[in-house]
This record gives sequence, C-alpha cells and structure tokens, in this order.
Amino acid sequence: MTRITHIIAGLTVAAAYIGSSGNHTYFNAAPLLLTGMVGGVLPDIDLVLGDSRKKNTIWKHRGIAHTLLFLVICIFGIIYFKEKFIHYNISLKSEITVFALAFLSHLFLDSFNMIGVPFLYPITKKGFCLHLFRVGTIQEYGLVTLPMLAVLIILVLNFVPKEDIYALTHNQYFIRKFL
Ligand SMILES: [Zn+2]
Repeated sequence: MTRITHIIAGLTVAAAYIGSSGNHTYFNAAPLLLTGMVGGVLPDIDLVLGDSRKKNTIWKHRGIAHTLLFLVICIFGIIYFKEKFIHYNISLKSEITVFALAFLSHLFLDSFNMIGVPFLYPITKKGFCLHLFRVGTIQEYGLVTLPMLAVLIILVLNFVPKEDIYALTHNQYFIRKFL
C-alpha cells in the first residue's frame, strides 16, 4: 500500500482506540494519534534503510521490518524510550496498544497486494498475501483509502467534544466575517 493509505490506517486505529477508551483530552489524543501514524508507516522503514540494488540485505523491502518479530523489538524500544524520555500523561499500555494495532494494520493492508508479507519470519520465510490488487492503483484508493478516511473523520468527530466543534466553526465564521 502507499504511504498515505498507511498513515490514514494508523490514524484510524488510534482514533478508534481514543474513542473507545472514553477518558480522553486533546492533551492525550494528539500524542496517541502521532503514535498511530508512526506505527502505521514504520514497517516501510526498510525502504529508507535498505538498498534496493542489493537483494539479500537485512533491510530488503518486506523483509524483517514487516514481521511480528520487528513489532516485538519496537515494543521493547517504546518501553525503553518511554521511561527515558517521554513524560506525557499517557499510559504505557495505551502507547503500546495503539502502536501495535497501527503496525499490524500495515502488515494486514500490505497483504492485500501481490508481494507476500513474511509475518512469521524467522519461523518461516513464507510471505502471505491475498493477491487483491497492486500498490497505488484505483482499487487501493477506492476500496481502502477513501472509505478508511471517511471512518477516520467520523471517529474524530465522535471523540471531539460537540462544544469544541461549535467553537471551531463559530470562530471560522467570526474570522471570515472580519477578513
Ligand atoms: Zn509495507
């Protein structure tokens, strides 16, 4: 899938988690949305770190970074950095849950394409895929990206307090009136 599809998927799972957890504020919603976005695109770090001219490097595309093993390594990284650097008022459980769901959304969506995703490496090198459509095609945008964007908008509107939406629209009206 394309980067924009993965970003929207990461944001959508984060928004669903924030909405379902009930006790949320702007202060904790924004960092969790950011965590979802990062988790949603992180497996494609192999496109940045890898060398597409070499076939058998550790960072070959859809290699180690697209596995459950890499997810576990990242979770240990979050635990380490959370204690060292992050002081937001967000529970570690929330951070890890949103990150893991966003990461898994990436692996799941990539499995729609023609190239397999080696979920279970190093247990098996076998790549799993559903052969539904190619990356960046009209099918991806029409069947996945746009419907998911609609769900994201509904979820965000659902967890933003109604009085804040009113204040925002009212302010825009106010600004337009005086410009
Ligand atoms: Zn990917």
